[in-house]
Amino acid sequence: MSDLTASAVSPDAKPKARQDFAQSETGESAHKWVYLFSEVEEAEERFDGSWDRVRGLLGGKGANLADMTRLGIPVPPGFTVTTEACLEYLERGAEFPPGMWEQELAAMEEVETETGKEFGNPDNPLLVSCRSGGKFSMPGMMDTILNIGLNDEVAEGMVKLTDDARFVYDSYRRLVQMFGSVAMGVPDEVFEEVITRQRQKAGVATDAEMSAKDWQEVTEKFKEIFRRYTGMAFPTDPDEQLQLATEAVFKSWNGKRAVDYRNAAGISHDLGTAVNIQTMVFGNMGADSGTGVAMTRNASTGEPHPEGDFLINAQGEDVVAGIRATQPLEELGDEMPEIYEQFLEIGRKLEQHYREMQDMEFTIEQGKLWLLQTRDGKRTAQAAVHIAIDMAEEGLITKEEAVRRVQPAQVDFFLHPQFDDTARKENEPIATGLNVSPGAAVGVIAFDADTAERWAKEEGRKVIMVRPETKPDDVHGMLAAEGILTSRGGRTSHAALVARQFGKPAVVGVSELELDLDNRVMRVDEELLIEEGDWISIDGTNGFVYQGKLDTMVPDIKNPYLIKLLSWADEFRTLGVWANADYPRDAQRAREYGAEGIGLCRTEHMFFEAERLPIVQRMIMAPTVTEQNEAIEDLLPMQRGDFAGLFRAMDGQPVIIRLLDPPLHEFLPAFEDLVQELADQKVRLQHHTTMSEIDQSLAEIRIKQDFLERVEALREMNPMLGTRGVRLGILIPELTKMQVRAVFEAACQVTREGVDVHPEVMIPLTMHVNELKTQQTALEEEAKAVMEEQDIQIDYKFGTMIEIPRAALTADEVAEVAQFFSFGTNDLTQTTFGVSRDDAEAGFLVQYIERGILPNNPFATIDPDGVGKLMKLAVEAGRQTRPDLEIGICGEHGGDPESIDLCHKLGLNYVSCSPFRVPIARLAAAHAALNDK
Ligand code: PEP
Ligand code: MG
Repeated sequence: MSDLTASAVSPDAKPKARQDFAQSETGESAHKWVYLFSEVEEAEERFDGSWDRVRGLLGGKGANLADMTRLGIPVPPGFTVTTEACLEYLERGAEFPPGMWEQELAAMEEVETETGKEFGNPDNPLLVSCRSGGKFSMPGMMDTILNIGLNDEVAEGMVKLTDDARFVYDSYRRLVQMFGSVAMGVPDEVFEEVITRQRQKAGVATDAEMSAKDWQEVTEKFKEIFRRYTGMAFPTDPDEQLQLATEAVFKSWNGKRAVDYRNAAGISHDLGTAVNIQTMVFGNMGADSGTGVAMTRNASTGEPHPEGDFLINAQGEDVVAGIRATQPLEELGDEMPEIYEQFLEIGRKLEQHYREMQDMEFTIEQGKLWLLQTRDGKRTAQAAVHIAIDMAEEGLITKEEAVRRVQPAQVDFFLHPQFDDTARKENEPIATGLNVSPGAAVGVIAFDADTAERWAKEEGRKVIMVRPETKPDDVHGMLAAEGILTSRGGRTSHAALVARQFGKPAVVGVSELELDLDNRVMRVDEELLIEEGDWISIDGTNGFVYQGKLDTMVPDIKNPYLIKLLSWADEFRTLGVWANADYPRDAQRAREYGAEGIGLCRTEHMFFEAERLPIVQRMIMAPTVTEQNEAIEDLLPMQRGDFAGLFRAMDGQPVIIRLLDPPLHEFLPAFEDLVQELADQKVRLQHHTTMSEIDQSLAEIRIKQDFLERVEALREMNPMLGTRGVRLGILIPELTKMQVRAVFEAACQVTREGVDVHPEVMIPLTMHVNELKTQQTALEEEAKAVMEEQDIQIDYKFGTMIEIPRAALTADEVAEVAQFFSFGTNDLTQTTFGVSRDDAEAGFLVQYIERGILPNNPFATIDPDGVGKLMKLAVEAGRQTRPDLEIGICGEHGGDPESIDLCHKLGLNYVSCSPFRVPIARLAAAHAALNDK
């Protein structure tokens, strides 16, 4: 709560604000700062009907309350103070803009007329709530104050009117409590302690059993706390309450938790929040009252049935806070069938109107249903896909909208870890809760957000954050954690909402868990004791909690809704989606995920395999060309086998095989290791006594000595910019010839088997067209020789990677030789920035991004202004020379949605990424095409 202290209203804020009301009389008040819920059309007119801008002005909540009012849905009357007023207030250093306050008071009078009640009149009191609401929903991130308008006289009057003193004083204490904690920064625990003591004094176990007198005493004690902490009396003037509440909401826009949330969710800090003032309706007025939250469809799975929670005789915050056990929405059908039917009907109407799944808050006051909020419901990735497909098939939205509604990052969820079947069979869950955000998570327990963040960020540990329930202040810990586990709370609790939004597996409401935060332990079913730092595993898909560290696996994406969505995406995209794969099994998976070719096979990966490395080393160490060629010949059948496997897997599709790229020293032991080993061996030699020991040691020393000499000869200060890529092929022509021979022999072999094969031979790291010319002559001769030997013609291409700025800048020349380009943006980024990726990511890059020196990691998202510009030049120049030049990308960026958008704009033919990112790339490519329309 300490962050709220900063947002507390300073005692002198009021006089300053009042000065402005005086100023407003000078005629500066023409601007409209306040809109009644019934005035939404004026806002629409102002923005020529742009609903997006109306939402920007009134906030999502305010705009929708006004919209629901227009639709004839029962909404308690009220008004919205605009986001413009908030920004102006903050800009002026905590002063209301001229005219705003008078407009707010005038709007209150309208609400009085509409409700027939009067703000501050004990005989017929109007109470209002004051809630924040920015353009984008930020659940629980900003402030809410309920029951504004209550004071001692009004409370007395209400007791007479309602004949329910218990209800009135419960409401009154809530006002003082919220006012104190939200507007003035008084720690909430201080208030909660008073309630606990009062319960003990009254000898009752729950708040529900407290009497009117108990709540009256609590209210008085709260006022005393208020005075003690703020140095001022609790404000009894309803207008003053309204003013301070409005200011508190304005200020909460810049509160720490709101800023943290916006940073995490990528919401702009310049939007401001609106303030919604709305007539209070009470769900805690007896057995015919209640309150709840519900979604029109299942937010976890996407099933087309409403789901939600409600509480009879309770106020809204009780449901969200998870303090009392809620009832599932269907039970409302048994308890209040007519209200239930009416609610379902409203849900249908709202879904039809917004063409989106809705998340609604409702209150039933003495048998009358009121809607307090509706907004597009947050949902899991799984639900997002399911709902998009269903809505398109129901005719509510188009296929295009369905595709647009699912974000590429959400597709990632389908590739998230799940516990593997054996782990599930072999382990009994120790507890079960609500499965509110799917996926498996494994980590050590951290009992608070700061610990979770520290362990995860500073110590690189995998963490599960475990709390009784979460609050907005906990978000940083939740983001750092692998998963979230709470002992309380329901499907719409804070923990559940945030987890779903950020794709964190979460299990909530695990009632068997008893947390002892003081001693940093938890008990399960009162016996099993688990300490902070111990491993646990949670399954957000079914709500199971396991002790220890279970094995996880990534599922195959066989979800029928996802398959359909991706097939729709394919109808819109123009970019091809290929995969980077080195082995037939990867190629197979890539194909299952929808890849249309292999954009990069890194042949060196095959060279590193255990049985091949000695042959590769023999080749590098060979003292004579003959011996070198012998080693190369030994590699040939292996490479042929590799390529044949890839071709079979990609039958009918192009396969780009890149010739050897890395510097040769990578295949030999490290220089430093060799020096150390040699030194050790020489020491040991002195201690050997038998001849055979000495002989053996000398032989080993000789081998190491040879390695060392060769490694020294190959040593370069920066091998990543040295003898690698095409340079290798030029220096050891037999090696590249062998690779080409292997490609073509494999191609001929599989052609005979009936496979339709399209190899493309790719030269890495070209800097000058002459390098390509040299290679092309040698390689085409070899290719021709194989095809003649085998008497088969293979349809092939010969091309190059563009990884060096010079190659991009001279692309017109390069394209005279190359039939295709593939941007190796990993190296192109390194060479354009002049930094090594590994060094940068492990070093200065983090700071650069945190300090805003670079907008983001250029190794993750293509730098559009530098690397992107080079790509653009290369595409244009290359196609000038060769209009049908095939151009793709095979750097890591090929699977990044933002980079895919750039590739689309540059007119590339395809992107190539790792098999696991193929589904994401398919959707991102569709979005790129749709955004371009
Ligand atoms: C690249 O540089 O982008 C590329 C794909 O090659 P590698 O990562 O193998 O250097
Ligand atoms: Mg490269």
